[in-house]
Amino acid sequence: MRQSTIKRPVTLEGVGLHSGKQAKVTLSPAPEDTGIVFRAGDDRITAAPESVVNSHYATTIGKNGTRVGTVEHLMAAAAGLGIDNLEVRVDGPEIPAMDGSAKPFVAVLAAAGRNQQSARRRPLTLPGPVRVGNDGRWIHIFPAPAFRISYTLDVDHPAIGTQVLSWAPSTERSFVDDVAPARTYGFLKDLGILRKNGLARGGSLDNAVVLAKGGPLNGLRYRDEFVRHKILDLIGDLALLGRPILAHVVARNGGHTLNVELVRAIQHILGIARRPAGAALSVLPRVPAPGLAAI
Ligand SMILES: [Zn+2]
Repeated sequence: MRQSTIKRPVTLEGVGLHSGKQAKVTLSPAPEDTGIVFRAGDDRITAAPESVVNSHYATTIGKNGTRVGTVEHLMAAAAGLGIDNLEVRVDGPEIPAMDGSAKPFVAVLAAAGRNQQSARRRPLTLPGPVRVGNDGRWIHIFPAPAFRISYTLDVDHPAIGTQVLSWAPSTERSFVDDVAPARTYGFLKDLGILRKNGLARGGSLDNAVVLAKGGPLNGLRYRDEFVRHKILDLIGDLALLGRPILAHVVARNGGHTLNVELVRAIQHILGIARRPAGAALSVLPRVPAPGLAAI
């Protein structure tokens, strides 16, 4: 398999889920072995585990004080479509939420056309399992001949309950049809405190499934849309590794913080952590903590 990028630049605009601020994103072709690179102001931030500066409710990457928030749905769209190299120019603090899923990013990336490049794609393989988390929330990743995610979401809410899905990209359409349209979700009761903390300020029924006590305030796209969105987020965060991974990911009640712990643990076990040029010490990766058994 060879690497690929898009053929021509495309642009999206919209409101950021957490900042509530308008942002514009231009996606452009990038040379082979670039990976996904974000440009904000004069800074160039490589999408990599080392670049993550915050993983609270969304994945934020940054460098030199410049930050780009909520990169995960765009990252998932690129990974799901098999786009290896991409430049993302961001004008604004955060990638726009669009409809809360990866579907709008998939649409523009598909419209941008595809250019196959000459360099080979080099999937990562693991020497053994890697585990992060604790009893209630954990992710285990095992060596496997092909990529798969098996996810259990267990939430004490009548609209969610226990949702289990094992998903593998068996065809090119399976990401586009089964995962990309699943939207982010939030609980109405949490909205006040989230907004007080600078989160969900752009959140609305247009870009999230909002759950009230009795059920969702908007219609669902899938009966199990919530676990599908968890898989989407995990795909987006795993894409921080910069290369596909041949592995089976088994997760229960994870989130961005645990996803980022996982990619850092994978880097650690593979010895591929690298310091982004010019990165401040404070944004360097934490070495996996004791208890993060990397076996
Ligand atoms: Zn998400």
